[in-house]
Amino acid sequence: MIDIKNLSKWYGSFQVLTDCTTSVKKGEVVVVCGPSGSGKSTLIKCVNMLEPFQQGTVTVDGISVGDPKTNLPKLRSRVGMVFQHFELFPHLTITQNLTLAQMKVLGRSREEAETKGLGLLERVGLKAQAKKFPGQLSGGQQQRVAIARALSMDPICMLFDEPTSALDPEMINEVLDVMVELAQEGMTMMCVTHEMGFARKVADRVIFMDQGKIVEDCKKDDFFGSPRSDRAQLFLSKIL
Ligand code: ADP
Ligand code: MG
Repeated sequence: MIDIKNLSKWYGSFQVLTDCTTSVKKGEVVVVCGPSGSGKSTLIKCVNMLEPFQQGTVTVDGISVGDPKTNLPKLRSRVGMVFQHFELFPHLTITQNLTLAQMKVLGRSREEAETKGLGLLERVGLKAQAKKFPGQLSGGQQQRVAIARALSMDPICMLFDEPTSALDPEMINEVLDVMVELAQEGMTMMCVTHEMGFARKVADRVIFMDQGKIVEDCKKDDFFGSPRSDRAQLFLSKIL
């Protein structure tokens, strides 16, 4: 579903990604971890070209994202993305947040979009909040709305960039629970997260990055059992 080959990227003269190669199969859940500044966000943003790159190729469902002929808005509409900060539209109600892109991008009728949006809102346990504004919800609730909004576009895969790292501890699990459910239903997911409990539960593979390189890319059990690199061992010893 996602295929990253020999990807390198520079910010000016600073090389942020060096020759990264990995892939995510349909239905697979891959967790990306590593120290701050190692290039995790940049890597995941290259998947839907939120960040352009200079070398290598990235394809999503067989479509090359770097090809100038690719219809990027169309591709992006099929790749769900959830960031650290919830990025809901503050001046729109939860229902409006859930329906806007469905109507504008997918051309769904309001009725169709609302049925879909409210169904997803129920699924993340927030049906009662439909008429509220984002500011009236807790951080954990807003992040669940952000996930529901991404799902409302019927994504072929989901990208997460530290979706729980800005949340108070008591809200982390309500968001992780939604992500676990999604993973168990077979969604293809690439998740930057340091929530190793989540990784242990649902990840198929773990990628460990350091200084712009993919240092480890292995099955979950191998990663937690005995990471090959000293850097990953040190990282694990600090966060577990
Ligand atoms: P991570 O998500 O692993 O913390 P990032 O992908 O955000 O890492 O950043 C990797 C490196 O690239 C960091 O050193 C960061 O300072 C640098 N960086 C990120 N965004 C930019 C930018 N827009 N311009 C220049 N440097 C950047
Ligand atoms: Mg980051």
